[in-house]
Amino acid sequence: MCLSTVRKNFILGLLLLPPLFVNAQSDKVVTIIGTGYVGLVSGACLAEIGNSVICADVDSKKIELLHNGIMPIYELGLSELVERNVDAQRLIFTDNVAEAIASGDIIFIAVGTPMRADGSANLSYIDAVIRMIAENISSYKVIVTKSTVPVGTGRGIRAQLENDYGIDSNLFSVVSNPEFLREGLAVNDFLYPDRLVIGTDSDSALIALCEVYETLITGGTPYVLTDVQTAEMIKYASNAFLSVKISYINEVANLCDATDADVKTVAYAMGLDHRISPAFLNPGPGFGGSCFPKDSQAIVHIAAKNNLPFHTVQAALDANVIQQGKPVEKLQALMLREMQEDLMEKTAPVLAGKTVAVLGLAFKANTDDVRYSPSITTINLLQNLGVIIKAYDPVAMGNMRMIFPDITYCSSAYQAATDADAVVIMTDWDEIKQIDFARLKKVMRCPMIVDARNVVNPETLKQLGFACDSIGQSYLCKKRNEYVHTFVPIHLRKRVQSTKFSVKRDR
Ligand code: NAD
Repeated sequence: MCLSTVRKNFILGLLLLPPLFVNAQSDKVVTIIGTGYVGLVSGACLAEIGNSVICADVDSKKIELLHNGIMPIYELGLSELVERNVDAQRLIFTDNVAEAIASGDIIFIAVGTPMRADGSANLSYIDAVIRMIAENISSYKVIVTKSTVPVGTGRGIRAQLENDYGIDSNLFSVVSNPEFLREGLAVNDFLYPDRLVIGTDSDSALIALCEVYETLITGGTPYVLTDVQTAEMIKYASNAFLSVKISYINEVANLCDATDADVKTVAYAMGLDHRISPAFLNPGPGFGGSCFPKDSQAIVHIAAKNNLPFHTVQAALDANVIQQGKPVEKLQALMLREMQEDLMEKTAPVLAGKTVAVLGLAFKANTDDVRYSPSITTINLLQNLGVIIKAYDPVAMGNMRMIFPDITYCSSAYQAATDADAVVIMTDWDEIKQIDFARLKKVMRCPMIVDARNVVNPETLKQLGFACDSIGQSYLCKKRNEYVHTFVPIHLRKRVQSTKFSVKRDR
């Protein structure tokens, strides 16, 4: 079947594959180069849907951990999936990358593409893999970029192999198959994706990829077949769009704070509009993680290289820098208010010498990933103001210790809050949402909370006697000028009605 016929059958998405693919049983070996968040999850999930998978990584320690059944990352459901597929002999791990390349028919590249100082993607890890492929290719390989790479990288890989390494063009095909999984939900996202994107101009590569994903495709996963550069662009355009959405709601939240509106109600009502959708309308301390900041910077960089501005994404990035300063800005203001001093005159010294408990270090819940986590900015700012930091996170403390070896890491939220002058909530872990705030208050020196994720009802905190602030709900924290000094006994406080959502549905 020629590529144009296949494409016609697929018609960009929602149609089912022709029977050739539905019934195809792949006997090809899948090699994944790079066994990090994406590579390990992809490897385990591809094995789960019936492929024979080799996961390779240059990091021998990581491979040794995996050989011992220990996951090098925290990801829900991953351990069970790995164990099951290793036992079924569909999944193996190796630090012999050369051998893994030689043994594989389909080579997925899942190495990092971190941000350079100028905002561009650093492709040195990709280049190193291409060199290893060139050195170990002796039979036809389908080379798939799963890493997020700038538009044009696929073309560059082809040129590198042919021109720099003299590899026969019949010996390989290039595919872009960007990954959209979310850390914390990665296994679920890989096995039940919103869509598959496959970009290639090679019939044989397309057939190979369809065999690899046969279970998902026949299960009804929508897919988009396109060329390499369009597939590469889809990934950047998607991540940058989400960055814009987050920065947008963050700025709405700041405006809510300035105008006594409640962002949660605003976001809820916005999300009822199906053109907007409720996803990514949670304001917070700015976006972080290994993808949104770097991919947004990268698309702005790609645009600039093409003499085009990308105003919206640049604005989202600029807004994010400001947003990441909000938790500390709010803490300073709250402390000054408690001390009943002039906000304008005294900003710096108010926190000096104070102890602050930072609850949540991961860039979001359910992951141990701290790359570009907003908590890093918060801790840096607090340290610059002379604050003593006590920190707690259910799983990310090991990774944060590598960035801040000298702060105090605690075994629970309560231990972190003990004798603290304030708490800052930075990650919306369920465990943090479920804190017994009455118990927390008892151990704190001063009951003060900045909830940078809006996980606790301000009403609850106020009733318990906390001075509090949030992102976009400041009004509720001091509603109707009822902001009273923290040390006034609770029974003297007026009860404030919490916001109620009232929705009339006619559908
Ligand atoms: P990661 O840092 O967790 O993993 C990369 C792995 O590659 C590391 O284990 C490293 O040791 C290994 N590696 C580096 N050079 C190698 C080589 N020459 N041979 C073999 N292994 C090598 O990175 P990640 O978070 O998994 O991201 C990988 C790519 O996927 C990036 O481009 C990222 O943008 C993209 N992505 C990430 C996510 C995510 O949520 N983390 C989601 C979608 C896409």
